[in-house]
Amino acid sequence: MTLPAITARLDAACAAADRSPAEITLIAVSKMQPPDRVQAVLDAGHRAFGENRVQEAQGKWPAWRDAYDGVDLHLIGPLQSNKVRAAVQLFDAIHSVDSLKLATRIADIAGQEGRSPDLFVQIDTGEEAQKAGIPPADADAAIRDIRALDLPVKGLMCIPPADEAPSLHFALLTRIAERNGLTGLSMGMSADFEQAIAFGATHVRVGSAIFGDRVTA
Ligand SMILES: *Cc1c(COP(=O)(O)O)cnc(C)c1O
Repeated sequence: MTLPAITARLDAACAAADRSPAEITLIAVSKMQPPDRVQAVLDAGHRAFGENRVQEAQGKWPAWRDAYDGVDLHLIGPLQSNKVRAAVQLFDAIHSVDSLKLATRIADIAGQEGRSPDLFVQIDTGEEAQKAGIPPADADAAIRDIRALDLPVKGLMCIPPADEAPSLHFALLTRIAERNGLTGLSMGMSADFEQAIAFGATHVRVGSAIFGDRVTA
């Protein structure tokens, strides 16, 4: 568990960017990690965690929510429509809203459940055909339509292509957010969270750098 080292790097990145660490949520991405590692981070007092599959999260987080106060759970992976109810019940934030259709379903179910997670609209900044997210050219219209549903849309999220410099993608996401009046920016992972902070990230999603290599399926 290297949470203190990552927190120190996050603080240093904030200082270099003239930002306050209080502006940034460090999401510890616990997908496919052995429970003892996650528990160690919980015991250290950390509360913001990320999972990329609803089913995996359902198997482990209800018990940890009972055992620890203030758990703040973020869904960062793709959300299928048949999992929306479970996601709305379990997660405090959903970072993977990638269509008006999905947002409409979230709105319907949030109304029924009386509970609405914070939402981030995922933008496919790399315009990769196989990747989730709304293409940059369609972003403004999609963001407008999704916000019209009266959901708590907090910001935007991106996953840069693995083989490209992430900074261009962080800059693009920042621009799209600014022109739409959105302040939340979910960007940056183990390899590039410091750069993401320099570009204005408010939520960084760091897995392996905190927990070590993922081991369980
Ligand atoms: C797994 C995952 C992360 C964390 O990746 P690391 O490289 O382990 O930090 C961040 N964001 C998303 C969307 C992920 O699926």
